[in-house]
Amino acid sequence: TVKNVCMDADEIERSLVRIAHQILETNKGADNLALVGIVTRGDLLAKRLAEKIEQIEGTKVPLGKLDISFYRDDFATHFAPEVHSTEIDFDMDGKDVVLVDDVLFTGRTIRAALDALMDIGRPARVELAVLVDRGHRELPIRADYVGKNVPSAAQENVRLFLEEVDGKSEVEILEM
Ligand code: 5GP
Ligand code: MG
Repeated sequence: TVKNVCMDADEIERSLVRIAHQILETNKGADNLALVGIVTRGDLLAKRLAEKIEQIEGTKVPLGKLDISFYRDDFATHFAPEVHSTEIDFDMDGKDVVLVDDVLFTGRTIRAALDALMDIGRPARVELAVLVDRGHRELPIRADYVGKNVPSAAQENVRLFLEEVDGKSEVEILEM
């Protein structure tokens, strides 16, 4: 296994600062914004973004989470994303919602997240922010805000560590 560090803690931090500014620029401030992170790393990134937005604008943005993971389908041949739980304790109707995830790959998780959001409420608009886009999309889904594009081979794996849970912040790419 060969390991390449593609973002260190400072780079992750700077890209989140940039994304916070981009979100505020596109949405003309934070008044109508809400952030929804996908467990287990996207929710932590959403929290960091909310903190930065609050530092910049002085506005507390509503924060929610969706827990979505893959299960083996009925034919035991494919994996399909499944929504396990949702924690959205604010009214999403009319809000400009930014979904936040760590790594964007096939796009199937985001498709499931969009379904879940639409079941819960009627956001005015939904955008997507990801720390890493590693390519290999299987659906017509793209991110509006990207920390870093990391072109990867299908068999490679991106590892994201975050201070909050791992004691260090780093993005690594592993060649198997
Ligand atoms: P997708 O549904 O787009 O295929 O995969 C995205 C979801 O799976 C994200 O929630 C992400 O956490 C996880 N994921 C997919 N590929 C990787 C990867 O290479 N590294 C990490 N850390 N997570 C991945
Ligand atoms: Mg995930």
